[in-house]
Amino acid sequence: MRMDNKAINKISYGLFVITANENGKDNGCIVNTVIQVTSQPDRISVAINKSNLTHDMILRTGKFSVSVISQDAEFDLFKRFGFQSGSEINKFDGFTDYERGQNGLNYISKGTNAFIEAKVEQNIDLGTHTLFIAEITDMEILSEVSSATYEYYHNSIKPHSENSIALKSDKKTEGKSVWKCNICGYIYEEEEIPMDFVCPICKHPISDFEKITI
Ligand code: FE
Repeated sequence: MRMDNKAINKISYGLFVITANENGKDNGCIVNTVIQVTSQPDRISVAINKSNLTHDMILRTGKFSVSVISQDAEFDLFKRFGFQSGSEINKFDGFTDYERGQNGLNYISKGTNAFIEAKVEQNIDLGTHTLFIAEITDMEILSEVSSATYEYYHNSIKPHSENSIALKSDKKTEGKSVWKCNICGYIYEEEEIPMDFVCPICKHPISDFEKITI
């Protein structure tokens, strides 16, 4: 039997903003990897890519907060925390939809339905990622809107490729083959895409691109 790599997308995932604070600097990133691992005590795990500044901040401070993204979240929240790097900009600049929790870390107060504050107990090195196992120190419900799953984000929050194409210049593109980023909808307007291409918006590799005809 042939292995179908798409099977892994059938696992259901939630979406979360993970926030950290180090020496007064706030930062955060978006992940789909938060799960509860034990209930006595309440413990969660989160796997975070080492290329995220938030990862290093958690490694050094041993603290993070999880804001659970709900179905009323806007695409702007994903752009702000998911598509840019905290080492280049301050993701909280000009942003007002947050509060500071008891642990001194920000949590997102709009487009989210709960937040969880956590203290790291163990770091497990997984090569590209670190798996943090953490004890919950505080948590609150923020709204009764359902949580956004990864699937919901793809179907209902992320702009569809038609929109992305419409936003492009008025260049004649009908019938042309282009490459679409399946994560954020970015369109690379060429027939062929370089093997080492990285999406300029969401930084995903070409394995997340699909060739489409428009
Ligand atoms: Fe992308």
